[in-house]
Formats: sequence, structure tokens, C-alpha cells
Amino acid sequence: GRWWQSLVEERNPVDLKTDQPHSARMYDYFLGGKDNFPADREAAEQSLAAFPNLRVVARENRAFLARTVRYLAGEVGIRQFLDIGTGIPTSPNLHEIAQGVAPDARVVYADNDPIVLTHARALLTGTSQGATAYLDVDVRDVESILGSAELRDTLDVTKPVALSLIALFHFVPDSDDPYGIVRRLVDALPTGSYLALSHVTADEDPGWEQVAETYRSRGIPLQPRTREQVGRFFDGLELVEPGVQVVHRWRPDGTAAGLSDLEVSNYGAVGRKV
Ligand code: SAH
Repeated sequence: GRWWQSLVEERNPVDLKTDQPHSARMYDYFLGGKDNFPADREAAEQSLAAFPNLRVVARENRAFLARTVRYLAGEVGIRQFLDIGTGIPTSPNLHEIAQGVAPDARVVYADNDPIVLTHARALLTGTSQGATAYLDVDVRDVESILGSAELRDTLDVTKPVALSLIALFHFVPDSDDPYGIVRRLVDALPTGSYLALSHVTADEDPGWEQVAETYRSRGIPLQPRTREQVGRFFDGLELVEPGVQVVHRWRPDGTAAGLSDLEVSNYGAVGRKV
């Protein structure tokens, strides 16, 4: 059988609810991954019909993640990462990038999608000097994240931590107090910590509202936000140059030359707690 059947049926009765699309599996489909099911592919194809550049959005988002982690581990010297909304493992994963720069980097991953849980083992392999852990939790449950043994055992929260919220908060609608959630997470971290965040936008193309409707009609809350609304996640933090940008313009490394803001439609920034 398929690799996941034994997991689902015998050892670990995780209910993947394969008849419903999940954001992690749709994103995996956009990235060309194999961990998706017909319901995910159908919803993803309908989204692609409304916004044909979604594969570029996903790829450039992933490239932004890699550049922020290289910047934080390299230029800034951060050794601890809390990555919430991790997604299905996609090479290179955050811990591979961070530990590629600093083998002693420590990473806690968190996600609320059952398929990410089935892949947790892939996320838990790191260098011998570093460490990785995985938390099965909803970002809205800030108390469980901060109180978890995985976090306390893996990270020293008296020392700076990079909180990475990449392509997550467009899945947290205003009714769930997204700014309050980020504020409470950042409040728990010491001065010298960082927030890296990316977030899709409809600023460049109203076609995004159709994409959002495709998700919402299948039970996945998707809320694109404006540049100003994305910037508000960094209130109280000092934005690192070049501030809030469409992600391919954030410290570009030349790989995204020629892309337009419309094609990328995703804001990103990094801020420092001072
Ligand atoms: N950060 C990765 C994956 C982004 S896809 C990247 O940028 O490449 C968004 C991820 O957020 C999915 O894995 C989804 O399962 C997760 N997610 C969505 N809503 C969530 C919530 N409320 N709590 C925790 N994770 C959530």
C-alpha cells in the first residue's frame, strides 16, 4: 500500500479527512509535492483558475522563508527558531537552512494539520549539535504553545528567538484576533528576538478575492490583507530593511528577477524586538 496507509489504519489513527481540502496539502500541490489528495487538487485547480500564478506565489514564499532564515542565522546570529504553520516538509526545510549556517541551531515546529503530524519525523531529524521538535497545536492556542514541554525543552526563551509565521496569518481571520495572537507570542520572547512573517494580498489583483472564496467555500478561512494591515503585525517592532515588501523584493538574491508584484502577491517582512 501507500506509505501513509499503515499510519492511518494501524499504528496511528490520524484522521486525514481526505474528502476535504486542507491548506497544507493545497500548498503542497502548488509546490509540486505529492502529499495531496483529489479534494485538495480539485480546490487547488479551482484556485489556479482564479489566479494562475499561485505556483509562483508558493515558490517565492518558500524562497522568502529561506532568505529570512539565512539572514537571521547568518547576519544576525540567531540560534533558536519557533516556526508556526510549518507545512508539509519541503526541501530545504527551515532546520536544514538554519543548521546549514549554524549546526547548533534549534528549531521548534508547530502546525495544526494532521498530515503535517504524520510527517513530523521528517522534521525531527537535525544535526547532532542542534535540535528539532514538533508541536501539534493551533496558533490561536497561544497558551499551549508557550506552555509546551517541546518549547521549554528545546529553546531557551531567555535568549533571542526568531518567530517565523510564514504564510500562516492569512488563515487567521479578523474574528480570531490575529494581531493579539502575534502580540502575545512576541511578548513572551526577550529583546533581540525577531518576527519573520509573510502574508498574501489582494492589493495587486482582485482575482485574489475569488481564490479566498474558493478556500472559504470549503471551510478554510482565507483572508488576504493590505500592505498596511500586514505592516500592523509588526507594531512595536523595528522593521529590518527593506521593510514590508512583496516578498521577491525582500533582500533579493537574483533568482526572482523579472517577476512582478502582481505575480507574487505576498507581502513579507522581518522585525526586531527592541
Ligand atoms: N510556513 C510554510 C507552510 C505554509 S502553508 C511555508 O511558508 O512554506 C500554511 C500552513 O499553516 C499549513 O501547514 C497549515 O496546516 C497551517 N495552519 C493553518 N491554520 C493554522 C492554525 N490555525 N494553526 C496552526 N497552523 C495552521
